[in-house]
Amino acid sequence: MAAVTGHIEGQHDTVELVPLHNEAHRAAVDAGALELPREALVAQALGAPKEEGSEKGGATKLKPLETAHAGLVRMAWFRSALYNEIVKRQIDLVKVKENAPPYGGYAFLLQPGLDGNTVPWNPTAGGRERAVFKLFSTNSKMACPTWDLPAGVYKIGGSCPGADGGQVIASTVKGGLPIVGRPERVLERAICNACYAVGSGYERFEAQAGELTRMLWTSYWLGRDPEVWISTMVAAVKLVVNEARWWGGPRGKSGINPLTVLPFRLHSSGDFFSFQYAAAWVEVINRVRDWQLAEKRTSETRPVAFWAPTRTWATGYAWQAFWAATYGIELPHGSERERESALRHAVKLKHSGSLVIRPSAFHFDDPAPKPGEVGSPYAGSTSIYKQRLAELIEEGEEALHAYATYTCPVYAAGKGSKSCNAAPAPNGKIGCRVCWVDGKQTVNYVAH
Ligand code: SF4
Repeated sequence: MAAVTGHIEGQHDTVELVPLHNEAHRAAVDAGALELPREALVAQALGAPKEEGSEKGGATKLKPLETAHAGLVRMAWFRSALYNEIVKRQIDLVKVKENAPPYGGYAFLLQPGLDGNTVPWNPTAGGRERAVFKLFSTNSKMACPTWDLPAGVYKIGGSCPGADGGQVIASTVKGGLPIVGRPERVLERAICNACYAVGSGYERFEAQAGELTRMLWTSYWLGRDPEVWISTMVAAVKLVVNEARWWGGPRGKSGINPLTVLPFRLHSSGDFFSFQYAAAWVEVINRVRDWQLAEKRTSETRPVAFWAPTRTWATGYAWQAFWAATYGIELPHGSERERESALRHAVKLKHSGSLVIRPSAFHFDDPAPKPGEVGSPYAGSTSIYKQRLAELIEEGEEALHAYATYTCPVYAAGKGSKSCNAAPAPNGKIGCRVCWVDGKQTVNYVAH
């Protein structure tokens, strides 16, 4: 067992270094060979603002940087500066002491740590050095573990292929151009263009450093030895399952829904950035369920249910075909050529219900995709503006149900109880896990 540094003991009470695959990583850093694959290049394509011409060679002038979408520009430069520091460091997986709330398990240890002023315009909280970033995050709304990656188009260092054409770094108000693709219909109404995960709390140093480290580690191992990533993730999920008491949730009392699954959220930030990555997750989920079935544990017999919203379907038939093959359902239309690469990577999901992929609508006020419509057997989600929602409610249940059959009640809940565990489910009982367990409901998350 390797020695534990005092620094880590002070921060997270880490007791054990996990010697999984750190040597190869260290050698790559030493040799200067640690690189992200094309998908994850952080803002390199951004460079200095272009004076003219669009991505597709159009003649319209791009606006100078200072007139662009301030939030996305700031995020792109922040990620670029932060990534350039992370990539120079040794990244080890360490095991956080068991029972350390919330969700003891694996964490990344960066050596040397990141100075509080690594990115001067976005310092760490309190200016403290940061060296440890959890493999899994937590989310107070969903009250469960989450796995998060950087959100947004590849060109701002994000992991969301479906954001292309729906996220703009130039002003949409004064005729600026998107940095990628062509604007879909009404760009201002594209949900990705108002993505919560490229601003507010997700912009914090600690959140971005964690997401970028996860992305770097994932890309590194999927590019070299996917089995390392898969087996590490399986082990990490098992550790979390063994600490199921941290997953909370109301149980047992009358008027309260018992928690039938252990909910796990994939991508409260980010998306499936490649077929290989998505297939690796399916393999992890298959193995976790196999393990649960073989173990027949008593206190943790509730199956882990993974829920992942995705906008990958918006890129076209290949991703739709990938999901269809994953679930063994009929493939949507499309040419063999388009589907070829996707089908080469697809892994079949063995246990139904253990991974619920919900396709997300592209624009605010679009109807949520129906089951089977874009490759997933599960219903999708949408985001309806408050005003439109009021109109639909007035028009009647049928009108509203054409858009979504259930409106997430979390934000209607009382102050201090804005979580799935405190929200009413469709059966009226407290404790909603619709997104994990009811694949037939199309869900609306109200846009404010
Ligand atoms: S619909 Fe229910 S399960 Fe889904 S996020 Fe809202 S409260 Fe949670």
